[in-house]
Amino acid sequence: MTQTSEENLGRIRAVLIETSHPGNIGAAARALKTMGLSRLELVAPRQRPDAETLARAAGADDLIERAGIHDDLDSALEGCRLVIGASARLRSIEWPVLDPAEAAGRLLAEAAHGEVAMLFGRESSGLTNAELSRCHYLVHIPTNPEFSSLNLAAAVQVLAYELRRHALAGTLSEHVDERPDLADAADLEGLHGHLAATMRAVGFGDIEQSRTLQIRLRRLFNRARPDRTEINILRGILSAAQGRKRPGRDDPAPTEPAPTAKDTTCSDD
Ligand code: SAH
Repeated sequence: MTQTSEENLGRIRAVLIETSHPGNIGAAARALKTMGLSRLELVAPRQRPDAETLARAAGADDLIERAGIHDDLDSALEGCRLVIGASARLRSIEWPVLDPAEAAGRLLAEAAHGEVAMLFGRESSGLTNAELSRCHYLVHIPTNPEFSSLNLAAAVQVLAYELRRHALAGTLSEHVDERPDLADAADLEGLHGHLAATMRAVGFGDIEQSRTLQIRLRRLFNRARPDRTEINILRGILSAAQGRKRPGRDDPAPTEPAPTAKDTTCSDD
């Protein structure tokens, strides 16, 4: 495997949300390490890694020791430009779904330009709708539709294997956004928070009351993949609509001051 492919694998993190069984954390770490992946992030595990975790890790202890333990998903996704969520079910709400090979190709290609994440849900109930709305894509491992749910670590293994296969072949997906300044997860959360506040302020309504609207807006911006300047332009417009020149102190902070129309020059490049 080339050094570049190895470096790209190093920028792919597996995020496990609220795991119930510490053993599964260990088995997931083992699955990752066998495939040359090294980054594990845990969001609010029901039980912290313990002796059972280390037993199931079977030597992947280093991944467990280095694993981040986060209170929330925001912190686990810090700096990520692409998020792909693993789902055992094909959701009724329309969301772009990739097969494992496509997902691996995109994660790896995009990892050449920054940090990326694969999200895994709870053993009992998978990912919530709010969590899935943080994903640019879902990945579904084709399974028996009558019995579609793999063990958590088995799902991690399948996707990690696909990543290794692609890394070895050196084939990168053509579907890659190479812009270096793509908005990351926190930039997008800032925009969504600001949108919700503005919608309330201008009397459009409370987006918290409409799940369909929330999901649609999330899907729109996940598909568009705005860069930081675009986010700042949008936030500048929102601030103006709220009757302010700059986002207020209570709004989630943009990464740069929001521009006004006067500051914003448009070019075709
Ligand atoms: N009972 C849950 C599934 C939990 S399995 C449900 O019905 O949603 C734990 C996690 O493993 C899932 O949230 C998902 O991230 C992953 N997983 C399990 N089976 C999968 C599959 N067929 N495709 C993609 N991910 C899967």
